[in-house]
Amino acid sequence: MNSVELLNQVAAEAAVCSKCDLQYSRKLAVPGEGPANAEILFIGEGPGFHENEQGQPFVGAAGKFLEELLASIHLKREQVFITNVVKCRPPGNRDPQAEELAACSDYLERQILAINPKVIVTLGRYSMARFLPNAKISEIHGQAVRVHGRLIVPMYHPAAALHQGSLRRTIEEDFKKLPKILEEAKKKQDTGRPEEPVAQQMRLF
Ligand code: URA
Ligand code: SF4
Repeated sequence: MNSVELLNQVAAEAAVCSKCDLQYSRKLAVPGEGPANAEILFIGEGPGFHENEQGQPFVGAAGKFLEELLASIHLKREQVFITNVVKCRPPGNRDPQAEELAACSDYLERQILAINPKVIVTLGRYSMARFLPNAKISEIHGQAVRVHGRLIVPMYHPAAALHQGSLRRTIEEDFKKLPKILEEAKKKQDTGRPEEPVAQQMRLF
């Protein structure tokens, strides 16, 4: 199967998934959307009210802000892949629970393998914790960290940053670092230079 087919399969499975209790609060699953060959993958937390209604990620207020952030680095949302750590809406927008994150994890894993992005941007703490369980967002936001061969850039969640002056400036500044991080990631791939060992990277935080 090619990457488009793999992503379609994930979406089809999530639409009728019964692996966790979030199936009961789901109107439409939100598998995520974007090009199968996207260079940047954004991973948020979970669908909210509007996402659940429409079956698309980040279509509410946080989505509008995310689009503004993308525009600030001359990207349109159609150029990146956007998804979440859980594909169904937690009731009342509560935090996703550990067993729900675990149940849904395989879908995200398959999406990452299919897309093979150059950079993964995590939005919020649940998304960051998937790759960096012990990291503190206040310490590593906006920094590229290599985890199991993948470049992860943790950022604050746009919904949290939207209404908080200082966080808003922080996420705006972190976004401005993305083009350079992406460029470096591509250069590194081009030269075929070996990746730095994980142990060395871990000293970053
Ligand atoms: N917040 C998220 O984390 N994900 C969405 O899809 C929408 C809002
Ligand atoms: Fe399945 Fe994920 Fe939805 Fe749970 S959140 S029902 S694991 S698709």
